[in-house]
Amino acid sequence: MVSEKMYELGTKKSTIRTIFEFGRQRAAELGEDSVFDFSLGNPNVPAPAFVKQAILDVLEDMTPTEIHGYTVAPGAPAVRETLARSLNERFGTGFSGRNLFLTAGAAAAITITFKALAEPGDEFLALAPFFPEYRCFVESVRAALTVVPPRVEDFQIDFAALEQRLTSRTKAVIVNSPNNPSGVVYSEATIRALTDLLRQKQKEYGHPVFLISDEPYREIAYAGVEVPWLTKYYENTIVCYSYSKSVSLPGERIGYILVPDEVADFDRVYGAIAGAARVLTHVNAPSLFQWVVARCAGLPSEVAAYEKNGRLLYEGLLAAGFQCVKPQGAFYLFPRSLEADDYAFCERAKKYGLLLVPGTDFGCPGHFRAAYCIRTETIERSLPLFRKLAAEYRG
Ligand code: PLP
Repeated sequence: MVSEKMYELGTKKSTIRTIFEFGRQRAAELGEDSVFDFSLGNPNVPAPAFVKQAILDVLEDMTPTEIHGYTVAPGAPAVRETLARSLNERFGTGFSGRNLFLTAGAAAAITITFKALAEPGDEFLALAPFFPEYRCFVESVRAALTVVPPRVEDFQIDFAALEQRLTSRTKAVIVNSPNNPSGVVYSEATIRALTDLLRQKQKEYGHPVFLISDEPYREIAYAGVEVPWLTKYYENTIVCYSYSKSVSLPGERIGYILVPDEVADFDRVYGAIAGAARVLTHVNAPSLFQWVVARCAGLPSEVAAYEKNGRLLYEGLLAAGFQCVKPQGAFYLFPRSLEADDYAFCERAKKYGLLLVPGTDFGCPGHFRAAYCIRTETIERSLPLFRKLAAEYRG
């Protein structure tokens, strides 16, 4: 009577949601102070004041029809031109509005891109640890997701494992840096090695292998960390961007797909993106927020609070005896769990009110994710509990 697959997707809660709901229930029973909820990647830094000002200015300066009406499907041309100019100033590129397609956030940008590119039998490669929604996005377009195992020492790329999984059916490799859940930024050396490998494989297969860069955390990079701009390294790069994290607008659903002119068969790729958006009922990205993000183009993200939280939790966990790669951006830590079974570990942590997400959900067993986009004071109060948890394991 209904699609089994859709029923399953709609009713089987993700681990993250289940843990979050457990936390709400526990908070209702025992009080907020007993819950240390590291489960969700929902920014706790409020949208910067310039966002509010931009909203007020748009409401003041434009007519209701302009603000709330349909725009053309790729987004208002003036907005796209403004965003392209801002990217050119930051990265020394030569984009124009024709390279951008505005979407309802990164989730829509990625799914539209997958649908635009996927042909029967195609594979998309995700590098573990990876954002779990990639699987259902890829499968929704009848393609297959192939997981490349992680390099756990530093969460850069295991190139031998990647090379083994690249085949002539590979349509694209998805990268996400700064990374959810590892907090790591791919170094320039990693990006050069990756793009050299993809160029070699394109030649061997005689067709493009796209690099899809999912970058909602681009601006959340800590002092001294450079996030390489991938279109400079590889011609077949498609960037999927979002304002959900960089300016704390996850509920407003706004982002874009960037298709550089250099992408093989640009007109057909951009056309297929428009077609995929159409069948996915995109119509246009939210109009008000198209105008708002154009007015915020190039303004800085507020990173300091995340950096402070990241340092506090990282140093606190190391002192408690955890092993963890140092965070360079986003707002996640991805330490090793204190037993091989990360689900069992996260269950045990719950006893202390510590709500953590098992690494298996991100394709990386033996680890757990702690989202530190929460109050600093909560992290401070959680550290003695992490120490108790670690002591319990030491026996
Ligand atoms: N990609 C990654 C790696 C994410 O962490 C998220 C959200 O947490 C998304 C995509 C989706 O973001 P958006 O809110 O822009 O759809």
